[in-house]
Amino acid sequence: MIRTYDPGLRRSFYLSLGALLIAATPLFGVTGERQVTKLADGVYAIQHKNLNDGNPSGNTTVIIGDREVFVVDSCYRPSSAREDIAQIRQWTDKPVGYLLNTHFHNDHNNGNKTYMDAFPSLVIIAQEETKKDMDLIQPGNIERGPKEIAATIAAFRQGKDQRGRPLTEDEKKEAQDLLPGLEELLGEFKDLAYQSPTLTFADKLDVNIGNREVQVKHLGRGNTPGDAIVYLPKEKILVAGDLLVNPIPYTYDGYPAEWIHTLQNMAQLDAQTIVPGHGPILHDKSYLYLVAALLQGAVDQVRARIRQLGFPGAHSMDEVKGSVDLTPFRAKFAGDNKDLQAEFDDMTDHLVKITFNEAAQR
Ligand SMILES: [Zn+2]
Repeated sequence: MIRTYDPGLRRSFYLSLGALLIAATPLFGVTGERQVTKLADGVYAIQHKNLNDGNPSGNTTVIIGDREVFVVDSCYRPSSAREDIAQIRQWTDKPVGYLLNTHFHNDHNNGNKTYMDAFPSLVIIAQEETKKDMDLIQPGNIERGPKEIAATIAAFRQGKDQRGRPLTEDEKKEAQDLLPGLEELLGEFKDLAYQSPTLTFADKLDVNIGNREVQVKHLGRGNTPGDAIVYLPKEKILVAGDLLVNPIPYTYDGYPAEWIHTLQNMAQLDAQTIVPGHGPILHDKSYLYLVAALLQGAVDQVRARIRQLGFPGAHSMDEVKGSVDLTPFRAKFAGDNKDLQAEFDDMTDHLVKITFNEAAQR
């Protein structure tokens, strides 16, 4: 079972080991070293170094004004957040005045406390639904995380998965590869503390950080109930959070039919550079349109099947999934990369599920 609200931990701890080992291959096309991209004068995107533990960190965007700094997402590992803060201090002597959490998933906000410790007058912004979800879920994540990581390490050392099933020889090798990353993560998460957002908004919030306008917007639901994006009108830069994850969308959570409208709203903004929640920077809107088309494909096919079946609440996912074929999109997202193809297939299975759930809950 996947706990869809907990993507940071889902791959390592909540999947069957078989799926975990698939996930140990490159995720979201991002592995290896930290990468900093200058998007404009005083605007930088950071893709974080990912441990080989199957837990990819969300991207961070740094926007430097004349008076203060605005940061989008505090990432997954406090050590990465500390690295980012050290980098910001090299760029500017201005303090970080604002930190936005684009949504509640912990691979985008575990670093909140690290920023608050470094900049005590920090304002942490979130859409009001995001704050509610964070307050509900994050304290428990932080409590359970170290125990679950420790249990996984112990199981792997005994040649078993988290449920006590003996590993095959191939799985044992992959588990060995995961162990150092898991041990490092355990060391970090022992000291993790929760820091809630301190300022909420409903639809929009415009902030001037000194000769630089930062527009924060909730354009509708998508990946979560409270997705926020950041738009810099002068620089034509858009920071999308996990509404866009490159190169394979993140569809383990969300509202696909509403997500399409949210992406259409996003497409109205005059943006030349888009920072996705994970993965490399985008330089036009073609990927946005591709993701919208994929979601539309899922919604149309699930709805066609529901027309055949009747009231979805009286039916199950199993009656729907065989009627939805998203493979025509596979090459557009994954090319001929086998790992990405496997990730695409896993993603579309979950996309069909959340599309059906969304229809059934109406
Ligand atoms: Zn994410």
